[in-house]
Amino acid sequence: MKYIIFLFGLIAPGLLHAQSSIKAKRLLKNVTYLASDELAGRWPGSAGDSAARKFIIQQFRQAGVIPVLNSYEQNFDITVKLEAPAASNFFRAGNDTSFVFNRTYAILPFSGSATVSARVILADEHKTAMKALRQFNNSWVLLWRRKLMAPASDSLSDYFLAKEAARNGAAGVVFVTPDSLDKKDALVRLRPRKDEPLGIPVVQLKREASKNFLEGLDKGRLIVHDGETFLVSNRQLTVSVKIDPVTIPAANVVGVIEGNDPVLKNEYIILGAHYDHLGYGGYGTGSLKPDTTAIHNGADDNASGTSALLEITGALARNRNKLKRSIMVIAFAAEEEGLLGSQYFADHLPVAKNSIKLMLNMDMLGRLNAENQLYMGGAGTFPGGVEFMKSLEKGSGLRPVVHAGGVGGSDHISFYRKGISCIGFHTGGHPQYHTPEDDAHLINAKGLEKAAKYIYRAIAGLSNREQEWGFVKQD
Ligand SMILES: [Zn+2]
Repeated sequence: MKYIIFLFGLIAPGLLHAQSSIKAKRLLKNVTYLASDELAGRWPGSAGDSAARKFIIQQFRQAGVIPVLNSYEQNFDITVKLEAPAASNFFRAGNDTSFVFNRTYAILPFSGSATVSARVILADEHKTAMKALRQFNNSWVLLWRRKLMAPASDSLSDYFLAKEAARNGAAGVVFVTPDSLDKKDALVRLRPRKDEPLGIPVVQLKREASKNFLEGLDKGRLIVHDGETFLVSNRQLTVSVKIDPVTIPAANVVGVIEGNDPVLKNEYIILGAHYDHLGYGGYGTGSLKPDTTAIHNGADDNASGTSALLEITGALARNRNKLKRSIMVIAFAAEEEGLLGSQYFADHLPVAKNSIKLMLNMDMLGRLNAENQLYMGGAGTFPGGVEFMKSLEKGSGLRPVVHAGGVGGSDHISFYRKGISCIGFHTGGHPQYHTPEDDAHLINAKGLEKAAKYIYRAIAGLSNREQEWGFVKQD
C-alpha cells in the first residue's frame, strides 16, 4: 500500500470515504427510468432521447456541475432519416409498373440519387456478372446478395459488391436475396449509414417480384462468353431514386466539476458514457434482431453507464474540495450511430487538448458476472496506468481484468484517435446485447455499484496523481 501511495500520490481519506454515497438502489432506479418504454430506446432525435438528456442535465445541475460551454448541451447535427419521396421514386421493368417501394423493392441506404434507364445483365455467378458488365457496360446488373448484414469493408457486403459493379461499369445494381440467406426475404430499410453513397442507384427487389421481372423485360438474349453464360434483357429497366436526408440536432451533455489546486484545476480527467440506444431497432440500427420492431431499452447498453456517470458525478461533486484536477463529465449522444457524439466532441474540444490528461469511458457496466470481472481496455495508454488500475482491486469486491491495449468498442476510441490517453470500462457481453431484451430487470445493481465505486476511486486518485502523464500508443 505504501508503494502505491508513493507512486500515485495521496488519495485524500475523505475522497475514499465518499464512495459509500454511491448506492445500488439509486443506480438501479436511474437505469430503470432510462431503460423504460417511456424513453423508447433513446433513439437520437426522438422524444425519448431528449427526455434522457433533460434528465441528465437536471442531475448535473442538482449536483452543481458547471457547464463548460454556453449551456450543458454541445449541439451538432446528425442524419437520422433518409426519405424517399413517392413522386421521385419509381421502378419500371419494361412496361411493368407494378413495383411498389418498400413492398416489392427497396432502396439501399448507400444508393446514389439518379434516374437510370438501361438494359439488365443477369448471371448466376457474381464473377460472370462482372465480366459481362465489362462487355456491356452502362447496364443494370442483377446480383445475388451474399450477406444480410456486413460492414462496408466486408468483401461480401452489399456495399462492396455494388461498388465493384460500379467499378466494372454498372449503371445501377438490383440486388435479390437468395432463399438460403433469408427465407422471409425482408427488404433493406432505408436508414442512414456511415458508408459514402455510391454514384449509381442501388435497389433490392423481392424474390417473388424478381420472377415477374424477366417477363417485363422480355426475357433477353442468352450470351455465351468464354464458356460462361449470362442474359442481357431486351427491354429497359428504368429506376428513379431520390433520397432526401433528414438531419436533426443531437447534443452531448457536458459539464465540469472544478478542481481546487490553483494550477492543476486547469487539467482535466474526463468521465464519459453514451446515453443513446437503438430505439425500435430494425436494419441498419445495429440491432441483432433487425427483423423485430420493438423497443430496444438498452438497460445495460448504456443506461447502466449513464446511471454510473450520474452517481459518480454526484459523489465527486460532494467532495470537490478534495479534488486537485478538474473532472469533465460527458453524456455522449449517438454512439450507436458510429460514435458520432464523442467524435464531434473530440473534433470540437472545449479546452486545450494537452490539458486533458485521461478519458475514462463507461459502456455496459450492468451485468457483472459471478467472477466479478470488471474489464478495462487501454490502461496502458498512460504511464503506470495498468499498475494503477490494478492497485484499486483491494476491498473493491471486483476482479479487475486490465488490458494495456484493446482500445475499442465505444466512445473512448474517439479520444484515442486524437492521441488522448483513455480507458474503456465494461462488465462484458451477454445474449441480450443489442436486442429488445436488454432490460432493467437483468441488471446486477450491486455489481453496478461496485463498478461505479471502482471508477470513482480511480478518478479520485487520478485527480491528485503526481506521476507524469503522457500518451502511450497501444495496438
Ligand atoms: Zn453501448
